[in-house]
Amino acid sequence: MLPSFFDSVLQLIVKTSTDLPPDVRAAMKTSLVAEPTATRASQALTIIAQNIDLAADAEGAICQDTGMPTFEVKVPLGANQIWMRQQIREAVAEATRRGKLRPNSVDSITGKNSGDNLGPGTPIIHFDQWEKPDVEVKLILKGGGCENTNAQYALPIELPHLGRADRTLDGVKKCILHAVWQAQGKGCSPGAVGVCIGGDRTSGYTHAKEQLFRTLDDVNSDSRLAELEASIMSTVNNLEIGPMGFGGKVTLIGCKVAALNRLPASFFVSVAYDCWAFRRLGVVLDASTGAIKSWLYRDPSHPIIPMLDQAGFTRTGREIALKAPLTEQDVRALKVGDVVMVSGRMFTGRDAVHSHLMKHTPPVDLNGSVLYHCGPVVLKEEQDGVVAWRVTAAGPTTSIREEPYQGEIIKRYGVRAVIGKGGMGAKTLAALKEHGAVYLNAIGGAAQFYARSIKKVDGVSLLEFGTPEAMWHLTVEDFPAIVTMDAHGNSLHKDIEQESGQHLETIGV
Ligand code: SF4
Repeated sequence: MLPSFFDSVLQLIVKTSTDLPPDVRAAMKTSLVAEPTATRASQALTIIAQNIDLAADAEGAICQDTGMPTFEVKVPLGANQIWMRQQIREAVAEATRRGKLRPNSVDSITGKNSGDNLGPGTPIIHFDQWEKPDVEVKLILKGGGCENTNAQYALPIELPHLGRADRTLDGVKKCILHAVWQAQGKGCSPGAVGVCIGGDRTSGYTHAKEQLFRTLDDVNSDSRLAELEASIMSTVNNLEIGPMGFGGKVTLIGCKVAALNRLPASFFVSVAYDCWAFRRLGVVLDASTGAIKSWLYRDPSHPIIPMLDQAGFTRTGREIALKAPLTEQDVRALKVGDVVMVSGRMFTGRDAVHSHLMKHTPPVDLNGSVLYHCGPVVLKEEQDGVVAWRVTAAGPTTSIREEPYQGEIIKRYGVRAVIGKGGMGAKTLAALKEHGAVYLNAIGGAAQFYARSIKKVDGVSLLEFGTPEAMWHLTVEDFPAIVTMDAHGNSLHKDIEQESGQHLETIGV
């Protein structure tokens, strides 16, 4: 057996979760320069940049959603894949114990979280044999927010704002543009897309995701696809969806396209969307010891160049301090575009909590409360028999999943502010107006940045849902967010979706 294999895989997982690869850092730096200072887009990117630096410094998860661990392993003839699979699973469980991965494996029937990221289908491990003497292990951690924005098209198809997409490369381009437009900020833009033309429904999605293992700066060896990738990159940022869907110049940092043969009757275009927290790395291992011979995508002999020279979020003096619990007057005074700094008590709640609150009374008084759509990474620490909880990563999750419940919960329990990312729909917007509440957009993926605003964990309810889904009672201080839906019927998300839809119509594919 390979004595160093387990440690090497564990190192790979920890590094992937905590340190963005240089090509993604470079693309994000370019994005930062592209957005004019003092805009919402620039503020969002500055927080993201600071978050990237904090994560690498503290070896903390870049984003609290550490995603679906997906391993691509290449082995020489004779390698024991059964043993390697077991070792990889144990390394995943150990990384989860250490708080480098969030427990993310949920039984789809009972809703129970396995607690260690192991379960049917998780992690995903693909093996391939090759003729080289070494073992290669690549890992991508792709979170739920961006996974939910994946899209698959069966051509020909009529697309809103773009018309008919035929079975041509122009038709493919329309599908990619539509997928990016549809994602808006929900997948934590600026993102990158892996695309597969053809295949069947299953192989198409798999191959699209595999394209995310290409570096952002490589050029497709097929000149037709290279042209398509370049053409997408030169037009897509004109949609002005921008970072987090706030509007702006950078919507996408990469587009990688491949093609598979298809059945004559089918023509699928599969789009795998990854967020700015584009976590993928790899290692080449000695096949007799399992020791790391070299890293892929990064060179450890090169120092990490910080994203920022100075502290990230700089105040303009126009920020509005909000102290929870909030009054109706507090929130009616806010309007779209205001930057707020929230202090006081905040409760987390996402899918399981929202569903629970529709059938049961809340375990805490939510009157005037701030409800944070967040599934944090929380470590349980015990000293002298006393249990304490520590939040190590706590960015917002995609809010639109709570759209069926949110308006009713605001109405029933008097919630005054909802914090999340990506915005919400018409039902919530109407409830904000009728009952006096606001939606605050935090910066998606900025898990380390926001964890530092959390000063204390005061308690937890509904822990039986698992740590990401429980309702955590937090004391926060100066937690920055942007009002993107106000109590007067205004929604930045609705406006950007409409405006970017108009841009799609004029882009001329
Ligand atoms: S950055 Fe956003 S989309 Fe990406 S994993 Fe984190 S929360 Fe999900």
